[in-house]
Amino acid sequence: MANGLAHVDVGDIRRFNWMRNQNDERICGLERHEDKFVRVSEFSGSDIEGYCESMQISELVKKAINLSVRLNVAKPDMERRLVHINGSGIIKHIQTNESPKVEVCTAKHVVSNDNEAKKTRCRLYFDGRESRKVVLKGATESASDLNNDWCKFLCDVDSQEIEQIRENLQTFEIELGNKKRKKMNRKRKVILISHPHGGYKYISMGDQIIEIDGIKYDTPSCKGCSGGYIIPVGYIDRGTYVHSVSYYQGDKRLYGYASGLIPVVRNTMLNT
Ligand SMILES: [Zn+2]
Repeated sequence: MANGLAHVDVGDIRRFNWMRNQNDERICGLERHEDKFVRVSEFSGSDIEGYCESMQISELVKKAINLSVRLNVAKPDMERRLVHINGSGIIKHIQTNESPKVEVCTAKHVVSNDNEAKKTRCRLYFDGRESRKVVLKGATESASDLNNDWCKFLCDVDSQEIEQIRENLQTFEIELGNKKRKKMNRKRKVILISHPHGGYKYISMGDQIIEIDGIKYDTPSCKGCSGGYIIPVGYIDRGTYVHSVSYYQGDKRLYGYASGLIPVVRNTMLNT
């Protein structure tokens, strides 16, 4: 084939290097995505350890990978003028009533209300062509905060999958407890787990840019990364941060911001 990319499969990030929109512009400001994102199936952890001052963060990243999802919101609300929305998210809670549901954290601008939560499908383990297809069906929004750009919603899940998810969550929480608030010596690093352009799951890493409020970073992100799990290494909280927004100068990406902290507390509506 002329472009030499005939064998690049649909979720591979290299596809997006040459894709253009109707105005013949690159669909995003990034060139050579493969230099900025590491595919989770190729993630060994050795590079990240050097990068994060031997904080032994790779285990936490690997556990978070097993809980991270790609989101697709079909037919979002009319005023959004979009056919569908791609985003990312992470499972941080399982609600156990008669039929267990998983709770997914994402950005509010990805899933903006209860109506959109119902039209959201989450693909778990979407790491490569060979990955198992597990789809979580959005059911209800459980909590959200517009100003801090976060949303949590419950999803129905196949009963055959719930035990594996529960195990993934337990091992993740143990690792998270071990790493909570461990300080780094120098600069903080920020790791993002997400599905750029709705493709496979990738990891990107960068430096935190210290500001008075909010978590700001130069970690690469693209369309589809919104709602992806953010690990602020050296300041890890039990609560959750997800990728919220990116700022550009022309088409050069400058920095991104995380959502506000998504608290661990249960949805109060369910407790009353
Ligand atoms: Zn891109």
